Order: sequence, then structure tokens, then C-alpha cells
Amino acid sequence: MGERSYIYLDNNATTPLLPEVVEAMMPLLTSQFANPSSIHQFGQSVRHRIECARQQVADLIGAEPREIVFTSGGTESINLAIRGALAANPRRRHVVSTAVEHSAVLRVLDELEDAGYRVDRIGVDREGGIDESAWRSAVTPETALATFQHANNETGVLTDVPRLANVAAEHGAVVHVDAVQTAGKMSLHMADWPVNLLSLSAHKFHGPKGVGALYIRRRTRVAPLVVGGGQERKLRGGTENTAGIVGMGVAAAIARRDSAEVAERVSRMRDAFESDVTTRLPFAEVIGRGAPRIYNTSNIGFEGLAAEAILILLSEHGICASSGSACSSGSLEPSHVLRAMGVEESIAQGAIRFSLSRFNTQAEVDEVLGALPNLLRRLQALRTG
Ligand code: PLP
Repeated sequence: MGERSYIYLDNNATTPLLPEVVEAMMPLLTSQFANPSSIHQFGQSVRHRIECARQQVADLIGAEPREIVFTSGGTESINLAIRGALAANPRRRHVVSTAVEHSAVLRVLDELEDAGYRVDRIGVDREGGIDESAWRSAVTPETALATFQHANNETGVLTDVPRLANVAAEHGAVVHVDAVQTAGKMSLHMADWPVNLLSLSAHKFHGPKGVGALYIRRRTRVAPLVVGGGQERKLRGGTENTAGIVGMGVAAAIARRDSAEVAERVSRMRDAFESDVTTRLPFAEVIGRGAPRIYNTSNIGFEGLAAEAILILLSEHGICASSGSACSSGSLEPSHVLRAMGVEESIAQGAIRFSLSRFNTQAEVDEVLGALPNLLRRLQALRTG
């Protein structure tokens, strides 16, 4: 079967690999197969590649290499950050977070509650902005950890990290930021943020899947989740995913080099796309448009339509996008994010996330703009007909 070409606007789900990343990974998958823990020179040459990658990832976020622990991705980094920080600080039994986190955070919070922790999930306004006064009242000297995302994966809405982090830090809480949707897309400097822990994932910035990193600020105590051979300074046992780590390093170096230019170009395409859609289709609403948002994400609610039906028709045109809603027991459940924002059901149920990357072109965006109105009219006709 020949490979079909797609217009891929689902880059918040995952991104294509950069060719330079594939090239850098190949030797590790073939000739350079040694175990980096081996004493022989062969092993040590692979160790050197891992340490270069650690430097590259540290440089991406303005950190020190020894503050970087490689993991299997965003989900593991988040689990290590939250569970590891709490295990290292067992006296405090309160966690503060938000209602719009990724499930990797929310599921951990549910388990913590079952284990007797008190957990506050702070709400957001209609634009996705976190209720800062509720955040301020929730944090107390009992708070062990504050955990929140930098950009929301569904809407792209950005959090004011220093403002939330400062409140938590004033009470001596450990601060974890889920930066999976911003690391590699925006420039981040750990020196500027009062943050202890930061989760990253390579596949969101043109690196491989199944590899990520946790930034752990010096002197922040974290207990490991996975123990074994003592790798990653005993914070993450197990023989390293050498090819993945090297690929992540190269992806980080390229992101650091190019992200300003990519941001400029992609934000122009995204903004024009949104203006065009909302001008042509008066029933379309850009969700979170009034809030600061990451430049590649556009979540558009098409009032009165069903997201799944839109996605299927887009897919027939070779266009990949996604929706935050899940179809459960025959009824469309709007995403927890849009629900927390108070987006009306009729808009939330027709919400589609378009997420762009450096590989998208204006011609692709134009093709989507060309296809969208007819496709939506077909659905409207079905609904009224
Ligand atoms: N956090 C956010 C905000 C995400 O968007 C994702 C992935 O979609 C994750 C965490 C999980 O990352 P990973 O897929 O690397 O486990």
C-alpha cells in the first residue's frame, strides 16, 4: 500500500522527527550499541553521547546538565516529579493544582487523594486563565507541592508561571511545571523561574517518542520511582534509551537554534487561519482567544456541530486534527478543559484543535481553509435536514 500524504495539524499530539534527529540516532541503533555503564572505551563513547545530550537539553531550558534526568517521556517525568517530591517530603499532605491539567497530572492527583492527601484543583475563567485569588487562598504552609502546566495542550492557553510559582514558593512548597507543550517551542530559562521541577517530552519538539526529561533544581529532593542499576544519579534506574536520549539532545539543540524564527512564522500562519475561519464562519469561536496562548495552537468551537463528525470529514480530505472530547456511551462528553472554562456545551461539542509545527506550510493551511466551509455546511445541512 502506498503511503498517503496528510496535512498534519495535530502537532500537540506528536510531531514528525527532524531528519538530523534520525541521522544522529541511527548509529546508536546499529554500531554504537554498547551499554553506557560499561567500563570499556566502547561503553564510555556511548556515555559521552548521553552526556552531550544532557548538556543540549539543559541548554534548551537554561539549566545545568546535572539538573537533567532522562525518563521515558512527559508522563513519567510528571509522575516522578509529583510522587518523587511528595515522597521526599512526607510531612506536608496538601497539593495544589488546576482543573485543566493533562491526565498525566490529574490521574496522579486522584491517586494521591485516595491515599489521604488533600488536593485543590483551582478553576479557570472563560478564557482559560487560572483564578489567581483562589490559587493564593489555597496555598498554605501545609502545601507540599504546587503543580501546573505552562501551556494547555487543548487550547494553548499559557499560564503566568512566575506569578503562580512565587505564591507557592513563599510557603515553602515545591513547584512543578508541566512544560511538555512549551519546551522546544518557546525559550525557557530556569534562572528566571522560581520552579523546582519541570517536565519535558522529546516527541513534542521533533524528537523521538518514549523519551523525556525532568529538570530537578539543585537541592530539590526527589525520591526515585524506578530503582535498579543506579542510572541517572539513582533517580531513574534502567539501562538508558541511548538512541532516544541522543535524538532528544539533537532535537533540543535545533529547537534552541530555530524556535524564535519558527514562532514568528507559525504564529503568523495560525493568526491568519483564525481570522479567516472566524470571518467566513460566524458560528466559529476561537476558544481562549483573549488569553496569552502558545503560537501554534488553535482550538475552534463550531457551534451546533459534533467534533467527531468534523474530524471524520477532515480526515477524508487527508487533514489531521483532533478534539478534546471523548465519545462515551453514545453521548459526546466535552473535554474537562472546556468544561472547566465554562464553554457552552453547544460550542464545546464542536471544538476542534488545530496544532501547527515548523513543517506546516501556508499552502496546507490554505487547503484547510478551502475545504472547511463546504465540509461544515454539509454537516449543518445534515443536522437541519
Ligand atoms: N503533559 C502535557 C501538557 C501533554 O500535552 C502531554 C502529551 O500529550 C503529556 C503531558 C504527556 O507526555 P508524553 O506523551 O511524553 O507522556
